[in-house]
Amino acid sequence: MVYGLQDVVRLRQMADESIASEEYKRHERARLDALLGWCEVTGCRRRPLLEYFGEELIDDCGNCDNCLNPPAVRDGTVQAQMLMSAVYRTGQCFGAAHVVDVLTGKSTAKTQQNGHDGLSVFGVGADTPAAEWRSIVRQLVVQGYLRADPAKYGGLVLTDAARGVLKGTEAVALRSDPLVPKAAKARKRKATVPDEVAITDMHLWEALRVCRQDLAKQHDVPPYVIFHDSTLRQMVHEKPADEAALLSISGVGQAKLERYGDEFLEVIRREGREA
Ligand SMILES: [Zn+2]
Repeated sequence: MVYGLQDVVRLRQMADESIASEEYKRHERARLDALLGWCEVTGCRRRPLLEYFGEELIDDCGNCDNCLNPPAVRDGTVQAQMLMSAVYRTGQCFGAAHVVDVLTGKSTAKTQQNGHDGLSVFGVGADTPAAEWRSIVRQLVVQGYLRADPAKYGGLVLTDAARGVLKGTEAVALRSDPLVPKAAKARKRKATVPDEVAITDMHLWEALRVCRQDLAKQHDVPPYVIFHDSTLRQMVHEKPADEAALLSISGVGQAKLERYGDEFLEVIRREGREA
């Protein structure tokens, strides 16, 4: 399924970049979104298929992969409310891309022209990556809370079912493992700070990393060749005041001490004075 997702992402890029008419591209994008949405269904798969053809399934089929092996779900009510509010406040006429920009607080020409960066929902969902929001949009569409209106060029509109969620009387279940392309996940991980560094030491941590970056550039080597993260973390914890103390930290040998010791000791002294 994960490889399948990458294929869909590639198909989507091809559709975006093709020289076909805007109308055709929109049609292709809607088809791919429907396919992704169907991949993300957490309940019986036969239900949305039959609904698509105007029929209703009373009992789950008991035979599809989700019936036999139900995927893990989590409570997604708050995120669903955020998303629905963003759809509502922007006037129920914009597609997923713009609504996700508003939620994550990404300022674009479109958000500025429409005054959407002044809305209370602007940036309210910045903690969740854009790719995950796109997955949540698809899940809410396939669960029937949102609809992509063809008459509004695929703009998202709220359905009657959304009302209970917005009022807080109805809960929404979302997949625990949203289908998010790999690149998007990696980007998020890179931005996180190692949790071993306490908030109070963040200045020192950042200063040591800048020092390492400068030295790496100077010597034309990757930063980890200067010192590993774990060595920098230990410096943050122990705040060595002289060469002997610095040498006792793992990852600092005699050669590195002579080559880079002074610079790092100076950073630790300077940050200590400012703290
Ligand atoms: Zn089923």
